[in-house]
Amino acid sequence: MHNEAQDISFIINHLGEDHASYFNAIAPPIIQTSNFAFETVADMRKAFEDEMGGYLYSRGLNPTVDILRKKLAALDGAEDALVFNNGAAATFAGIVANVKAGDHVLSVTHPYSWTAHLFDKILSRFGVTVTYADGTDTASFLSHAQDNTALIYLESPNSWWLDIQDLRAIAAFAKPRGIITLIDNSYCTPLYQKPIELGIDIAMQTATKYIGGHSDTLGGVLCGTAAMMRKIFNSEYLCAGNGIQPFNAWLLLRGLRTLPARIDRITASTQKVLAYLKTVERIESLIFPLDPSYPQHALAQSQMKNACGLISFYIKAQEIQEIETFCNSLQHFRMAVSWGGHESLVIPKCAGIPQAQFDPLNPTHRLVRLYVGLEDPEFLIRDLEQAFRSIGLL
Ligand SMILES: *Cc1c(COP(=O)(O)O)cnc(C)c1O
Repeated sequence: MHNEAQDISFIINHLGEDHASYFNAIAPPIIQTSNFAFETVADMRKAFEDEMGGYLYSRGLNPTVDILRKKLAALDGAEDALVFNNGAAATFAGIVANVKAGDHVLSVTHPYSWTAHLFDKILSRFGVTVTYADGTDTASFLSHAQDNTALIYLESPNSWWLDIQDLRAIAAFAKPRGIITLIDNSYCTPLYQKPIELGIDIAMQTATKYIGGHSDTLGGVLCGTAAMMRKIFNSEYLCAGNGIQPFNAWLLLRGLRTLPARIDRITASTQKVLAYLKTVERIESLIFPLDPSYPQHALAQSQMKNACGLISFYIKAQEIQEIETFCNSLQHFRMAVSWGGHESLVIPKCAGIPQAQFDPLNPTHRLVRLYVGLEDPEFLIRDLEQAFRSIGLL
């Protein structure tokens, strides 16, 4: 019988590895080389003709990176994957490969900051226009598609407001129109959401977050058809030279070994932290996709297997100082960008605005995001309790 957990165990522990060719070492080697030699001119010619067909130069393919590519493609149920030096590079390549001057992109509102920069500051210089629309209302979102729409950019869930989009419906709209769909699936990872099975063309994730899992390396992934990955490899990947380096690929392979165990642990801890947060008077409302209070709860259940890690909430505050004191008081939730590592984190939206501009009537200014890491959940809850106590009123 088909058993997904067994498939995942096989992929993570065996797929793509050839132990006999490296002394039966359990950990694969880091093939730290820039170039690969040929015995004959004919072999070299073959490599020039198709750089994706073999090893020529590590800006292209590298054996350590290839093990990772095979595993990541299989986890996503995709034909192939490319691994980049970070998530922003993956998004950049996936988008740039699929637009040209005169094209239009339809994007969800509040995309990841560097994705927004790509749309607003870079693509705009090359005659590509972008419309941002609320992806939580599918009909209204798709009404912004134009005759020249070449790409639909999704983030489901998005990493701050955790908004989601109806991936099946959007894919069904885009496919017959020849519009490429690309999703940033970093929140879920392929363990909790498989966009390609729902009809999306390209699944991107930052491997810096859950795949690395230890806050010690960066990486980015694109998964899709072999033809799409080949198209990107032969152009943006080789030209921008932003593929992952062998050592970082090796760290991501190491991270992958424990991905399911870490995700299980974080999922259980997130539930405990959520249950605690619901008792806190100071919290106006919580955002978590699989919480019954979440406006798109049914849709989340229909396309996501589960959710974990990131929780956002609006804190009740009249003064910015209350939010700052709360965040400054946390000792085990470290204050930092990123997430997906071993360590729990906090980040307040108000860190992005000058203090004088704080407006308590603007809920975004009062938005705080927590990332629940691998620590003991009771240890984390005690930290939250003392930080809420520091601003009075639990
Ligand atoms: C961090 C992040 C990225 C960018 O990934 P890097 O590896 O930091 O370049 C993209 N999307 C989301 C949702 C992220 O959280």
